[in-house]
Amino acid sequence: MKFAAWIETQNMFHYGLTGGIGTGKSTVGRMFADLGVVVVDADRLARELLDDGGHLAAEIIDMFPDCAKNRRAVSREKLAELVFTNPEARRRLEDLLHPAIWNAYLEKVQAYAKAGSSLAMIEAAVLLESRTPFPLCGLILVTAPKMVRLKRLSQRGDLVSDQIEARMAVQMPDYEKLLFADHLIENHADLDATRLRVEQVLGTLRHEIGEV
Ligand code: ATP
Repeated sequence: MKFAAWIETQNMFHYGLTGGIGTGKSTVGRMFADLGVVVVDADRLARELLDDGGHLAAEIIDMFPDCAKNRRAVSREKLAELVFTNPEARRRLEDLLHPAIWNAYLEKVQAYAKAGSSLAMIEAAVLLESRTPFPLCGLILVTAPKMVRLKRLSQRGDLVSDQIEARMAVQMPDYEKLLFADHLIENHADLDATRLRVEQVLGTLRHEIGEV
C-alpha cells in the first residue's frame, strides 16, 4: 500500500460500490457523484494500469507473455480471454492487479481528501470475489433481475451474449453478495426510482459517518 496516499486519505470514509454485470453500478455511481460523492471506477483504473507501460504492466507481461500488446502494454482482450477460461491464471492476475488498483484509487482520491471531501467510493464488479482485503467502511450492493440485466446489456451493445454469460458465470450470485452488503440498491425500475433510493442511501451513509 502506498503509505503517503493512505495517510492523506485518513480523513475519508471509503465505501465499495458493487454489483454483477449490468446491474447498473456505473449508473448508480454517476448518481452518487452527482450528489457530491467521490466515485472512482476500478475498471478504468485497471485499464490505465495495463496500458501505461509501467511496473505492473511489465510484471503481467512477464507472467502472461502471450497477453502482450507490445513490449510495454498488456492486451486487455487477450488477458480477459485467458482468465475467463483459466481460474488459476485469474487468481494470479488478480493478486497482482487488485492491490495495485487500491493504491491507484487512493492516489486518485487523495486530492479530494485534501480539499475536504469525506466520502469516497470505489466502484468494482468483483470486490467480493477478490482475495485482496480492501479496507472499506461498508459495501453498497446494486442488484437487478437477470432478465433485466440481459436486456439492458444487449441494448448497451458492447458485449455479445457469450461474453455476458461468461462474466456472469465468474461473478458471485446476488443471493451470496447480499450476505456481505451493508446497503442495497435494487435497480429494477426506472431511473427516477433508483435516484430516490440513492439519495436515501447517501443520507444513511452521511449519518453513519457522523455528518448529519
Ligand atoms: P458493467 O458491469 O458492465 O460495468 P454496470 O453494472 O455498471 O455494468 P450500467 O452500465 O450502469 O451497469 O448499466 C447497464 C445498462 O443499463 C446501461 O446502458 C444503463 O444506461 C442501463 N440502465 C441502468 N439502470 C437502468 C434503469 N434503472 N433503467 C433503465 N436503464 C438502466
